[in-house]
Amino acid sequence: MRPAAPKPRSGEGGKAPVSIVMRRLANAIDGLDEPALEKIAKDQQEDPFQVLIATLLSAQTRDAVTHAASTRLFRIARTPRSMAKLAVARIQELIYPVSFYRHKAVHVKQTCEHIMSRFGGRVPSTMEELLTLPGVGRKTANLVLILAHSSQENICVDTHVHRIANRLGWVQTRTPEETERALYESTQRRWWPLINLYLVTWGQNVCRPVYPLCPQCVLKDVCPKIGVTKVGKLVKA
Ligand code: SF4
Repeated sequence: MRPAAPKPRSGEGGKAPVSIVMRRLANAIDGLDEPALEKIAKDQQEDPFQVLIATLLSAQTRDAVTHAASTRLFRIARTPRSMAKLAVARIQELIYPVSFYRHKAVHVKQTCEHIMSRFGGRVPSTMEELLTLPGVGRKTANLVLILAHSSQENICVDTHVHRIANRLGWVQTRTPEETERALYESTQRRWWPLINLYLVTWGQNVCRPVYPLCPQCVLKDVCPKIGVTKVGKLVKA
């Protein structure tokens, strides 16, 4: 009789092995609701401009609200040229109720103007250039590079990725910026473009900010659950 396969354990130093986590999540997220920005990128055939604008709108905003606001805005203006012509007040009206909609409307208009005046109507494809656009930070720039420019060199870190990477023991960091830097060291390059999709989907459905559903998580035997003090109730299928 063959001996039973040894049970996987969290790796050395209490880290969940990256390859095991990513392979399991690849299967586990199948059928779960995708993050809004992934949906928008697919709906818009990875159009860099629309991915950029939707990502700008998404900060601290629920996915459903981001999706609805982006759809309303793109119905009226689909290009930097047409969006730059909209008044800020009209953009505000279209994107409400995304959080900070007043500021975001200003950034959307200014970003469109910069794309027209400095980049010939095309969304730039380097981190350095993207960061010169109003309201664009590393999270937005990384997501545009991954979703719209097919970059294999970037990791997009939002609050879900930051939280889960720490719970898994991949990093020990205090901010998403620190997490991004640490993840380039602690994960293999082939996973970089997938980390955002897998961890954000898991974070929205299972590894939630409060009361994560550890008892029914596919990673429960390998995850050191760092910082988790209370877990959510098991939901019977
Ligand atoms: S839900 Fe629990 S077991 Fe699963 S990744 Fe999050 S902390 Fe780890």
